[in-house]
Amino acid sequence: MRRIVQSRKLQHVRYDVRGPILVEAQRLEAEGHKILKLNIGNTAPFGFEAPEAIVADMIHNLPESQGYADSRGIYSARTAVAQYYQSHGLTDTGVDDVYIGNGVSELITMVLQAFVDDGNEILVPAPDYPLWTGAVSLSGGTPVHYRCDEGNGWNPDLDDIESKITENTHAIVIINPNNPTGAVYSEDTVRALVDIARRHRLVVMADEIYEKILFDDAVHHHAATFAGDDVLCLTFSGLSKAYRVCGYRAGWVMVSGPRHLAEDFLEGLTLLANMRMCANVPAQHAIQTALGGYQSITELIVPGGRFYEQSKLAARLLNEIPGVSCVEPRGALYCFPRLDPEVYPVESDEALVIDLLRAKKILVTHGTGFNWFEPDHFRLVTLPDVDTLTEAIGRIADYLETVRD
Ligand code: PLP
Repeated sequence: MRRIVQSRKLQHVRYDVRGPILVEAQRLEAEGHKILKLNIGNTAPFGFEAPEAIVADMIHNLPESQGYADSRGIYSARTAVAQYYQSHGLTDTGVDDVYIGNGVSELITMVLQAFVDDGNEILVPAPDYPLWTGAVSLSGGTPVHYRCDEGNGWNPDLDDIESKITENTHAIVIINPNNPTGAVYSEDTVRALVDIARRHRLVVMADEIYEKILFDDAVHHHAATFAGDDVLCLTFSGLSKAYRVCGYRAGWVMVSGPRHLAEDFLEGLTLLANMRMCANVPAQHAIQTALGGYQSITELIVPGGRFYEQSKLAARLLNEIPGVSCVEPRGALYCFPRLDPEVYPVESDEALVIDLLRAKKILVTHGTGFNWFEPDHFRLVTLPDVDTLTEAIGRIADYLETVRD
């Protein structure tokens, strides 16, 4: 038989968060080493539990969830999502504007497959959550990265965005709150991004999965609320982060704005939804309960709460390491520190991460894995408790001292 190789479609597709660095971590684990994995925003292994009502709801509905559901999602879940956005000012949205998926991940891929033609350019932030870049490439499009400005709290560089728009640009991706930087955009910034989309007739794809993980005075603004009825906006969110059930795979995308101009695209999206039958049905039942019930996330994001304290501690400890600087996250679950190239002349940040892993048994993700332009950042998940985080960052500091020397 001939050698079986991956399809050419995958040629430019990368997803380094679970790439060679994880393979190396698993190899070390197989050798008996204990690896602290700070590469993935998965809450459960760090002692976070989902709200009880969500788990109970899922269990309660298991017997009724044996059949396929409507491919766009069960009615109660889609209604709950539509009502959630209605209560946030998007009064013009309804149950038919919502698609439920196996997490936001599946929907990102489906939406891009339905939307992007070969050669279409999609503006994606750098750094980004790398699924966006990978899924644009997979769908035949060209990801065009716009710079988020570390010196300006990792806010998007609006001039850079404008300068990268061509006649082939079809959409702009906004990740707010941002993974990996922790930036939360002001109302003016979100308005400005939507205005760029309006002027250049771009679709807005707003990944807002961290919308409820905000610290101090950070406020989240849905891009859709500024998109009005003339900018098509696709808003992605789900249960993985705020409700701590990544494993249930429950997410949604809501379509707002001039749907009458997007009927053909939406038909395509429904076709793709039909082709994969439906999203995990038991988890869909939990969506209504999650959105309607007590929002226990608020306990985690205030002073004294674990998300809050761990994020603050991680940023502080990272900033104490010589040659390392970290913009304090205003939301989400990550720190994205910079290694001053004068102090750490890194050629390959992936090699650095693998070296750190072998030396200190800690796995972080290299910044270029988030499509950052230079090999001078890494991302650390701030989910471990304060003692573990202190220990982990201590080990990172020890390692970096050897690199400095
Ligand atoms: N979007 C962002 C910005 C993320 O960080 C993640 C997961 O880390 C996802 C989407 C995927 O989430 P889901 O678990 O809903 O597939």
